[in-house]
Amino acid sequence: MRSRWRIGPVCFVILLTVVISARANDPGDTPPYDLVEVSPSVVMALHDNGSNISCVALDDGLVFFDASLSTRTATAFRQAMEIRFKRSTVALVLTHAHLDHILGMAAFADVPVYAAEAGRPRWDHFVAIEWDERAIAGYAAVFPTLPDEILDAELRLPTDWFSDELVLGSGEDEIRIRRTGGHTVDSSSTVVGVGGVVIAGDLVQARRRPYFGEPDTDFSAWIGTLRGWEELEVEAVCPGHGPVIDTAELGEIRLWFEGASAAVKKLKAEDVSLEDLVAQDKLPPPYWPEDDAPGWWGYCLKRLYDAS
Ligand SMILES: [Zn+2]
Repeated sequence: MRSRWRIGPVCFVILLTVVISARANDPGDTPPYDLVEVSPSVVMALHDNGSNISCVALDDGLVFFDASLSTRTATAFRQAMEIRFKRSTVALVLTHAHLDHILGMAAFADVPVYAAEAGRPRWDHFVAIEWDERAIAGYAAVFPTLPDEILDAELRLPTDWFSDELVLGSGEDEIRIRRTGGHTVDSSSTVVGVGGVVIAGDLVQARRRPYFGEPDTDFSAWIGTLRGWEELEVEAVCPGHGPVIDTAELGEIRLWFEGASAAVKKLKAEDVSLEDLVAQDKLPPPYWPEDDAPGWWGYCLKRLYDAS
């Protein structure tokens, strides 16, 4: 049975947040995640099985952002939040059409699902995938848990598209979701409340190597959005991946993106080839813990090089 759960007693403060460790009892149960209390109305499910999931409690009901790779995790988190806030779920917003953010969307099959229409080509691609062994193996090379998660997955098109802005809630309770592009052309985010909690999607990938290898990645839009949040002096940022961070750490990430863009531009102007750029690794020191570059890092460097 997949719903046998308990919320553990482990609580500790990180930044202004509280993390409660939630662990599944049996190996076949819901994959574990941490509940992060970001503000009185925002809670984030922090885990590595695809994207984080954020919940915003509005007067009218709960709005979730992203669904991760895991229908089981998304379902468990949704149920936990409905009990906690004593409200039903009114919407799912998907910050962009990357599989690790949308595969768990079956947990929200009964509510409106919103996404930026700019991501429609990727949506059409994912919805059309025939999940045979070959496709599963291919995606598992990037997302190792996908063979388990695809069993419960039910990808479908969003029920509602928005262009550049989506408004949910009303009055003081209103939240505006804005499509700025950056990570992808459809990358969308919101700032909740005065003082502000950012729900960033993959515009922020905290304490991990960032992915920026799409043909529609736009560095200047990306950096501009990060700068805007810094200027707002937001209280906290819920990233697409990694822990909740503050404005100072957001600034470090933004500086790395600016530095990387400038470094690649300079090397390209000096006629350094893409191959030499990859070999030399002359980007600024990473803001993430040291790791071995994954296979997709080359795509990222190529995108940065092509855009410079
Ligand atoms: Zn992404």
